[in-house]
Amino acid sequence: MSERHVSELAVRAEKLDTGDDLAPLRSRFVLDDVVYLDGNSLGALPANVPARVADVIRRQWGELRIRSWEESGWWTAPERIGDRIAPLVGAAPGQIVVGDSTSVNVFKALVGAVRLAGQDRDEILVDATTFPTDGYIAESAARLTGRTLRAVTPSEVPSSLSDRTAAVLLNHVDYRTGRLHDLPSLTAAVHAAGAYAVWDLCHSAGALPVGLDEHGVDLAVGCTYKYLNGGPGSPAYLYVRGELQDRFDSPLPGWNSHAEPFGMRTAYAPASGALRGRVGTPDILSMLALEAALEVWDGVSIGAVRAKSLALTDFFLECVGEYVGEGRVECLTPVAHQERGSQVALRCEDAGDVMRRLIERGVVGDFRAPDVLRFGFTPLYVGFADVERAARVLGETLG
Ligand SMILES: *Cc1c(COP(=O)(O)O)cnc(C)c1O
Repeated sequence: MSERHVSELAVRAEKLDTGDDLAPLRSRFVLDDVVYLDGNSLGALPANVPARVADVIRRQWGELRIRSWEESGWWTAPERIGDRIAPLVGAAPGQIVVGDSTSVNVFKALVGAVRLAGQDRDEILVDATTFPTDGYIAESAARLTGRTLRAVTPSEVPSSLSDRTAAVLLNHVDYRTGRLHDLPSLTAAVHAAGAYAVWDLCHSAGALPVGLDEHGVDLAVGCTYKYLNGGPGSPAYLYVRGELQDRFDSPLPGWNSHAEPFGMRTAYAPASGALRGRVGTPDILSMLALEAALEVWDGVSIGAVRAKSLALTDFFLECVGEYVGEGRVECLTPVAHQERGSQVALRCEDAGDVMRRLIERGVVGDFRAPDVLRFGFTPLYVGFADVERAARVLGETLG
């Protein structure tokens, strides 16, 4: 690598940052001079969250106590915050409820989808490359519902569908490689076979347009602590398409989803609407931290976020090509924009050790066994100079 190239890329980065309309959003977060490329695992802290959480604890809990279920809007928070997430994933209001973990919501959604499909359909398809928890839950859901589980890659889904298929559980973006799957066409294929499509949006929500309503997705789940910056363990969400809500039969019917929760009835009767996806008492502290965190999206268009995300990952790939010695890394993330999420995964020898050294030098990504370096690009707070520095430090580390 020549000195000239180094300075050229640094100058380009500076120009790109100057022309970036989203650059001012960085001030909505608490950040230091570390290059933080792990927002696909835990998003950074939005600056307004600490004061909000302090108010929730000191005033709402400390002073108002039980009154806060009504007066501070605790009781209605799961649907209110769901409606705040809705525009980010292309959903009209009234279809998303926030609560529980992604793992738990995968269970609700998948069993719910199998029940919608009816007795005649005896097979569930699951993404063979899925994040492990989705696969474990799918296996248990299949056993509980007496269906057969078949693991297939997303590209094999169309040819694996039949009139036996009840439901298909897919990831919008692969957590390991950053590959973006074709949600519109896969959903259409699932529907053409008469089955139900369940999408996991953990690695796409907040990074790119999803279009749940537009593409007729049946059920979807996602976490809120990655690109939505809700904080460690912040509650996940469940989307049930409006026209399916009346038939959605949750496998975890708790008192919170009862039509009359304070009727304290022996018999269960489901509430209508998104509320039906609730289980028990919501985790208010994390939920209200998430609500504050979502305010960073005020006035932000997800289309602009996607454009910047692609520009960031394009620039990272270019810088890696320039700074990293030939053959030292292999890119697992597709080059084609329509197949790329908001992360770049590089296969690398001694990846665990390499990532440890990067972190020591102020470039934070993560390592996924056995040999993958993951770099997540959150357009709300990552800039082009960060990208250039990360690639340069990687090149020097692999020197
Ligand atoms: C991050 C992630 C999860 C996390 O599940 P939790 O229940 O929140 O631990 C699940 N699925 C996918 C695809 C993920 O990327």
